[in-house]
Amino acid sequence: MTATKYVYDFEEGNKDMKFLLGGKGANLAEMTNMGLPVPHGFTVTCEACNAFRAAGRQFPDGMLDEVGGHLRALEQKMGRRLGEPADPLLVSVRSGAPFSMPGMMDTVLNVGLNDESVEGLAKQTGSQRFAWDSYRRLLQMFGKTVMGVDGDRFEEAIEEAKHAKGVQNDVDLDDGDLHTLVSRFKAIIAEDTGRDFPQEPQEQLRLGIQAVFGSWDNKRAIDYRRRNKIRDDLGTAVNVQSMVFGNKGDDSGTGVAFTRNPANGDPTPYGDYLPNAQGEDVVAGIRNTLKLEDMGKVQPRAWEELQAHMRTLERHYRDMCDIEFTVEQGKLWLLQTRIGKRTAFAEWIMAFDMLEEGLIDVDTAVLRLDADRLEELFKKVIAEGTKAEAIATGLNASPGAAVGKAVFTADDAQAWAERGEPVILVRRETTPDDYHGMIRSQGILTSAGGTNSHAAVVARGEGIPAVCGADAIHVDRPGKRFKVGSLTVSEGDWVTIDGFTGKVYQGQLELADSPIERARSGDAEARKEKIWKAYERFMARADEMRRLRVRANADTAQQAANAIERGAEGIGLCRTEHMFLGEERVAAVRKMIFASTADEEQTAYDALAPLQREDFVGIFKEMDGKPVTVRLLDPPLHEFLPDQVDLAVAVALASQAGADDVEVGGEHMPLAEAEELLAKVNDMHEVNPMLGLRGLRLGIVKPGLYAMQVRAIVEAACKVKAEGGNPIVEIMIPLAATREELAQLREELEPVARQVIGDRGVELLVAWGTMIELPRAALTAGEIAEVAEFFSFGTNDLTQTTFGFSRDDIGKFLGMYEERKLVPANPFVTIDQPGVGRLMQLACEEGRAAREHLHLGICGEHGGDPDSVRFCHEIGLDYVSCSPFRVPTARLAARQAALGEASSASK
Ligand code: PEP
Ligand code: MG
Repeated sequence: MTATKYVYDFEEGNKDMKFLLGGKGANLAEMTNMGLPVPHGFTVTCEACNAFRAAGRQFPDGMLDEVGGHLRALEQKMGRRLGEPADPLLVSVRSGAPFSMPGMMDTVLNVGLNDESVEGLAKQTGSQRFAWDSYRRLLQMFGKTVMGVDGDRFEEAIEEAKHAKGVQNDVDLDDGDLHTLVSRFKAIIAEDTGRDFPQEPQEQLRLGIQAVFGSWDNKRAIDYRRRNKIRDDLGTAVNVQSMVFGNKGDDSGTGVAFTRNPANGDPTPYGDYLPNAQGEDVVAGIRNTLKLEDMGKVQPRAWEELQAHMRTLERHYRDMCDIEFTVEQGKLWLLQTRIGKRTAFAEWIMAFDMLEEGLIDVDTAVLRLDADRLEELFKKVIAEGTKAEAIATGLNASPGAAVGKAVFTADDAQAWAERGEPVILVRRETTPDDYHGMIRSQGILTSAGGTNSHAAVVARGEGIPAVCGADAIHVDRPGKRFKVGSLTVSEGDWVTIDGFTGKVYQGQLELADSPIERARSGDAEARKEKIWKAYERFMARADEMRRLRVRANADTAQQAANAIERGAEGIGLCRTEHMFLGEERVAAVRKMIFASTADEEQTAYDALAPLQREDFVGIFKEMDGKPVTVRLLDPPLHEFLPDQVDLAVAVALASQAGADDVEVGGEHMPLAEAEELLAKVNDMHEVNPMLGLRGLRLGIVKPGLYAMQVRAIVEAACKVKAEGGNPIVEIMIPLAATREELAQLREELEPVARQVIGDRGVELLVAWGTMIELPRAALTAGEIAEVAEFFSFGTNDLTQTTFGFSRDDIGKFLGMYEERKLVPANPFVTIDQPGVGRLMQLACEEGRAAREHLHLGICGEHGGDPDSVRFCHEIGLDYVSCSPFRVPTARLAARQAALGEASSASK
């Protein structure tokens, strides 16, 4: 058996090897082989990382020898040895996972510097300042990421040095100051860890690789993976690359460039350039940057060259690329490229433009759209005509307008959001440690940093509106407030930000619908915009080519209209329970519950029937020619009665006080009536109502109830038909566990429908089916299919009953379950394929074996989740049904599933 190869030179890889070399390593290899100017280096594989993790943080056998061999080859290419005192080779040690996880893992630059080689570097470059600045950066990064020193200690030391010298910026510290700072940093490391900074270059490299591997398992990386659905077992590669320096003076610099605008999709380069700086300065937002296009003013040749490379890369990858680059004394180096992250809005614009430009075909364009983020296109904007003076302007880093209360730490953002307060997280700049607060904020506002600062990158990735680098704002974190001129905004004060324009407002501005939302509701101007054209074109393609039909869950004519407008092809679930609400209806329902004779009960049904009928008429008219699945009543009847505890307390208090009138939930009634009601409520009380008298059990116990509903449905359909409409009626019986339940109910209810149809003399077909939402129903689907023409998977209840998790209470422990990886995702959001999914698959197979043309759909919440839609496609459902709002998502996901690849696969 040949030994595993753990290390690859850049010449040995290519862009398709990202699972082995990580995204960064694979693309560095690709660029090297394209002949682009990439500093030499090599990649230690993700496989080595996984072996390291599996062995309890031990490098796999042979890996270090391989690293040594590749290092020697690198030294030969560069004509210098790592850390050699007279003329040191310095390397960067960077993480690089198969999927981009910006800033979530560790990086160490300038490895190879020590007390001796710093002098060599100074001599070689002729700059003491540069050498000592490089050394202090190594100590800072190494100290923090490898040795675990609190990063703030270094920042504080820098602040002290600047303060002592009376300067504002890091660049104003001279070589003497930096020399002193190096001593201070070394002392901090020794104080904090009890160990000295390792002087030996090989040891620095080894510890650096170890730290990067270890950082795969740090908390923020784990959080990021969970949120972005990235598997935990992929591991990260480590890229060891010879250093080039952007901090060698004014003819040097560093930047990040996107080949197109990642915020709005414009086909023009976009990014930041920071003269005389190293890469981490851009991302950390330490200093405000130049706009990329202004780089031409300071580095005209490198700028020309960069633009040419951008065009080459975009043609090669056929997508928008994001590039990290450094200019070292006028010479351009590319340090990284990847397919750039972008807003959902930009994603649609770019796909549309690239299709028009002939760079990609239409299915490639459709596959590139992230169905999960489609809803972002409908993000709010500040209402037109709103008169407000911006208090500051920053960069429009992530689109969408947001309103919230100002908070100043990530922990506060989390705490406030968890108690239901909308917040805007205000920071000077964010760091990866703020991630947990950022993702819970309505919006993010920073006073420093460019369009590629950490805040901007995370916000865009998460679809959170953000304004960055609003430098008029002075954030006072300890004081929990910010100042703009003479204005102070304190914690809890309302702030509005506009991530489309970069403007910041005091107070709570009114927000309005996005251009696409306006276009959809018929606004002629909005319909001329490119985003609308892109939306129409790609959604039309999705509809033309998908196999799964998409219906909506809608209970009213209004919801039905919304659903159609969003492209629904029918109603997959019309829950009838809302039709029992409203004062008049609740009174009738109560009469039904209290009825002591069949006649009294019938009187109550007679009162309800016309109201129900009118509801159905509205829905059938709206859905003309499209199927409507009406589900007979499901919830336990006590839901129509007052709360047991409230009522008991009110009755007790009234009788104690000798009052003869009781108030319950705003309703007054005589004490005697309230006592009778309480007795009934007590009588009907269930310990486990979710497993109690609900669904078809209700229909069996109260036969008149379902008969009344069936009569109302069929009468409504006959009426619409008689008026020239085309209602397509499917009656769905919920919560079946056995074939017999369904068979008996059909026997009772079908004659009711037949009689109405006969009396009205119209031709109407009614399909009868059931929900599969209990494990027993799934397991006996073959028998149930004998008496059902269709199945609709009620995956909310099916998940509840398969796991035994209460769908209403899972919030109490779901977080911990996800954290400990006891479930891969919230099973109420994404179908649990091995369990719930398996039951569904079995039910499909056995159901179809018993009835060849059994129609199959899903109406649980999962019907609008792209991963679940793909699964539904795979197991051969005919349609998915979801909330009207998610219909476009499901349409797109259905097409992507049919293309054999889901959006998540391209992440
Ligand atoms: C379900 O259980 O998945 C379902 C759609 O029904 P409900 O949510 O109304 O129980
Ligand atoms: Mg259900």
